[in-house]
Amino acid sequence: MDALVIHAAGDLRVEDVPTPQVLANQLRVRVRFGGICGSDLHYYQHGGFGTVRVKEPMVLGHEVAGVVEEVGPNASAFAVGDRIAISPSRPCGACRFCQMGLQNHCLDMRYYGSAMRTPHVQGAFRRELVVETSQAHRLADTLSDREGAMAEPCRWRCMLFSVPVRCSARRCSSPAVARSARCWSLRRGAQARATSSPPTSVRSLCAVR
Ligand SMILES: [Zn+2]
Ligand SMILES: [Zn+2]
Repeated sequence: MDALVIHAAGDLRVEDVPTPQVLANQLRVRVRFGGICGSDLHYYQHGGFGTVRVKEPMVLGHEVAGVVEEVGPNASAFAVGDRIAISPSRPCGACRFCQMGLQNHCLDMRYYGSAMRTPHVQGAFRRELVVETSQAHRLADTLSDREGAMAEPCRWRCMLFSVPVRCSARRCSSPAVARSARCWSLRRGAQARATSSPPTSVRSLCAVR
């Protein structure tokens, strides 16, 4: 399966990488859209940022949305054909924050397309991606795949600007959260106003964490 692999600054290649087998709580997804983050550009233009350097071939990308093509045996909450936004963050599940249910504070988070650790965490600019169900957030029918790919940068924006979108962890797998992806593409003009809005449960919004 094709993937976009960076080897060094200016050295970007389309390469064939294997698609892993889908395990019990996993989904195989056909990636439809990906946003190009500033970090992707830094990897491409400078081979990294700060002290973070590309030391080995790495698939770029972490802002993606796609459609489910295969469902693991224990992933019946999803179905083939579901359109989803994908969280690039995979918490360790073992640290004290993960044990407290605060996975977004994980001390050992693995993040798609990141050279911050070695071996690097491979990214999501690929035709097929196998994800945990906990990373998958179904898109509302009113959202495009392109907007779904903006859910990840949106959550950072939401955290910075306290965009007044309220949700609880329970609702985070519902379309209600995916709708919040519009805060990036459609609410940019409202952000200044959003900063003066009452604090909201932004942390749980970022179960797209
Ligand atoms: Zn990003
Ligand atoms: Zn953890």
